[in-house]
Amino acid sequence: MLRSRFCHSLVVAFAAVLLALINTSYSQTSAGPQPVPLPPPVPAPVDQPYAGTLSLSVDLTNVNARVLNVREIIPVRAGPMVLLYPQWLPGNHSPSNAVQNLAGLVITASGQRIPWHRDRVNMWAFHVEVPKGATSLELGFQYLAPIRPQQGRISTRIADLTWNSVLLYPAGYFSRRIQFAPELKLPEGWKFATALDVKSQNGNSVQFKDVPLNTLIDSPLYAGINYKRVDLSTGPDNPVYLDVFADKPEQLEITPEELQFHKNLVVQAQKLFHSHHYDHYDFLFSLSDTVGGKGLEHHQSSEDGTRANYFTDWAAGVSGRALLPHEYTHSWNGKFRRPADLWTANFNEPMRNDLLWVYEGLTDYYGNVLTARSGMRTPEQARDEIAGIAASFEISPGRTWRSLEDTTNQPIISAHFMAPEFWPSWQRSYDYYPESDLIWLDADTKIRELSNGQKSLDDFARLFYGIDNGSYVTVAYTLEDLVKALNTVQPYDWNEFFRTRVYQVETQVPEDGITRGGYRLVYNDTQPEWMKHMDHSRGTSFATSIGFTVSGEGGPGGGEAPRGMISNVIWDGPAFKAGVTPEMQLQAVNDQAFSTENLRAAILAAEKNNDPIKLLLKRDNEFITVNVDYHGGLRYPHLERVESVPDRLDEILAPVE
Ligand SMILES: [Zn+2]
Repeated sequence: MLRSRFCHSLVVAFAAVLLALINTSYSQTSAGPQPVPLPPPVPAPVDQPYAGTLSLSVDLTNVNARVLNVREIIPVRAGPMVLLYPQWLPGNHSPSNAVQNLAGLVITASGQRIPWHRDRVNMWAFHVEVPKGATSLELGFQYLAPIRPQQGRISTRIADLTWNSVLLYPAGYFSRRIQFAPELKLPEGWKFATALDVKSQNGNSVQFKDVPLNTLIDSPLYAGINYKRVDLSTGPDNPVYLDVFADKPEQLEITPEELQFHKNLVVQAQKLFHSHHYDHYDFLFSLSDTVGGKGLEHHQSSEDGTRANYFTDWAAGVSGRALLPHEYTHSWNGKFRRPADLWTANFNEPMRNDLLWVYEGLTDYYGNVLTARSGMRTPEQARDEIAGIAASFEISPGRTWRSLEDTTNQPIISAHFMAPEFWPSWQRSYDYYPESDLIWLDADTKIRELSNGQKSLDDFARLFYGIDNGSYVTVAYTLEDLVKALNTVQPYDWNEFFRTRVYQVETQVPEDGITRGGYRLVYNDTQPEWMKHMDHSRGTSFATSIGFTVSGEGGPGGGEAPRGMISNVIWDGPAFKAGVTPEMQLQAVNDQAFSTENLRAAILAAEKNNDPIKLLLKRDNEFITVNVDYHGGLRYPHLERVESVPDRLDEILAPVE
């Protein structure tokens, strides 16, 4: 932020000087620098086969240092060539592959070292001149995984190997036309899981069958010391596995009830989509406090990661329970059916994200529905989730200036701006996930209402995703295709429905689905039971009441923020109006040392009197006292049944028989 303000003042000063020059008799309009032509563009991908197979050897044995050693042999012909490090990652929807972690690149041909030059414009492109007579290039380099716990995905016990981190590939070809022969050396005693097919294994060296680049990058590998494979298949025609890797062996223990929930997920997904688009599916699942969490979809697998006590403290995880249902849904919505402009020919062509409110938004909706239908959340917990989403938008004024569609650019914007957003309720962030939950609930209940309960968004799922059973060749779609399919299920003005809710600035929170579902949003002081079991180490939200989130006592999740750090100050909320800003540290509440409990008690006490809530805050070395004139109570959001309207929401959340 500072830098942009500085630049702005420079521009103003420069303009003033320029004006002064123009106003003198020495003005020379043709003088001054002329633009230097850009370097020739990197060759665009063409749908043609790359001659030969690229060998890729990854050595994972130095996990202590988080250093992966890579050796790659690329068949070549003499002449200029561009090698690409993947930049745009599917599922991330952004140019975010960390090229800064590539180091030690040495390229040789016939034993002779040859120079490489990074493109001056495209930091993911490397130019080389292949010498006459050379038939292959040998590349050696390292991928330096982040060392700090929680930031990276490689520890001394668990490794998430993303092939996009450990390869370069030739520019000029569709990624599906470039063949790779991958192999991997594992640390002694480690097990692994991946959607890739194994060709041979000799001790801790594994060779995989040849695979095109697009499938390779879509097939990451988990490895680790503590591993358990759980069979979730519904039958031989639908093999699905949960591949669990944990920090400690005891964290792999699953109760019969937990196992049943996960098996139900596969059954309910099949009943929703009436198809599947994989040969076999692997949930690659890390349970760890040493590597960071993750949720990234692939066609035949997903990279999933959460807290170490996922199974051993089941009650604590209600809020994160949709992780596996969400990523599994992506096999249908996102990987198999994909917005046309999100499909790209290789990993360095830009993606366009305008339909992420379907790709991610509808996945979030179906994911939450499947979480309830599988029993991972009770109906009440599922309703609390919806209430929480609606409540978060009721207090966020960002929707008064920014359309939901514009938020689909967020992954690309965030890739350029690495710092967190300080005012998410005003800036808007990845709103196309949760807000789309409300919009798709609106659509689902609309279909149910118009068809007198005969049709629903389940029928759309069958129609749109239930094609080409068994195939995992992506079928692209446009907004027109989506609207056409919805009209086949239930005729309605779906164009207008999405135009008003997605594409224009709309101040009204889209809550009609809650109303039509037979509920209304209410607030009270009653904290949902499941919330009491939550891990609050990363912060406790008082967003719907006093208007901020505050970090608390620390805990197993390893929250990094110091105690009392304030974030997510709600724009125009009570704390905001009193002068509270993000990054202040809360020291005391009503002259008592800060604790989450004290703050909660102070908010409850203020409900019964007219005294402001007194906060002592620290900003840098300054202490500041503010008085927040707030008397509205804790305002936990809930959905309350409205008996006069059919109970459509609970129909949606109930398992399909
Ligand atoms: Zn997703």
